[in-house]
Amino acid sequence: MRNIKIPGLRNTYSINTVFCIGRNYAEHAQELGNEIPELPVVFTKPINAVTFDGGEVLIPRDLTEDVHHEVEMVIAIGKFGFQIPVEHAHEYVAGYGVGIDVTARDVQSALKSQRHPWTLAKGMDTFAPIGNFVSPEQVEDPHNLNISLSVNGEKRQNGRTGDMIFKVPALVSYISRYASIYPGDLIFTGTPAGVSELKHGDEVEADLGGFSSLSVIVRDR
Ligand code: MG
Repeated sequence: MRNIKIPGLRNTYSINTVFCIGRNYAEHAQELGNEIPELPVVFTKPINAVTFDGGEVLIPRDLTEDVHHEVEMVIAIGKFGFQIPVEHAHEYVAGYGVGIDVTARDVQSALKSQRHPWTLAKGMDTFAPIGNFVSPEQVEDPHNLNISLSVNGEKRQNGRTGDMIFKVPALVSYISRYASIYPGDLIFTGTPAGVSELKHGDEVEADLGGFSSLSVIVRDR
């Protein structure tokens, strides 16, 4: 069993469930031809997907020819909760950091067309790299942050967290209606527009608000 910690936070949290939100920025939903959702689209990634700053994103070329980056603000959860009211949701947040929801788009499209869950397209080893986290006291407003990603020095994604359709309190509250949340849970909050393909040898840099950064190299495996 892996027992891996959320980097950057003063308290030690072993990473638990990795929740993710899909289609949480209107422009990104549109670029993939999806409707804007009326409720948050929630899925999870298995823990084998988590990797860290300075690591590698591994692409299994026997399975996919089209892997995309999705830069996202990630929420770290600091305490247990169930059915959390929106107005109390902020009390459960232990930190914010940047992450990349790496996605095998061709695998996801095939699974979607068969009306199957897209877990395997999002859950391959190293498909959830995360940067350092900072505590909420150090973040003036999580909905007023720049979020960006570049590949080999070329900016591919550049968004504002204020453009999220469902904001942090709504996401924490909504997930906790269905699933108890625990210290060490992460919530990837969705990606702005500009997703594109990753190739062997690419150097990927992501940044959230100038306080959380992430650098990974892409390798075929
Ligand atoms: Mg995503």
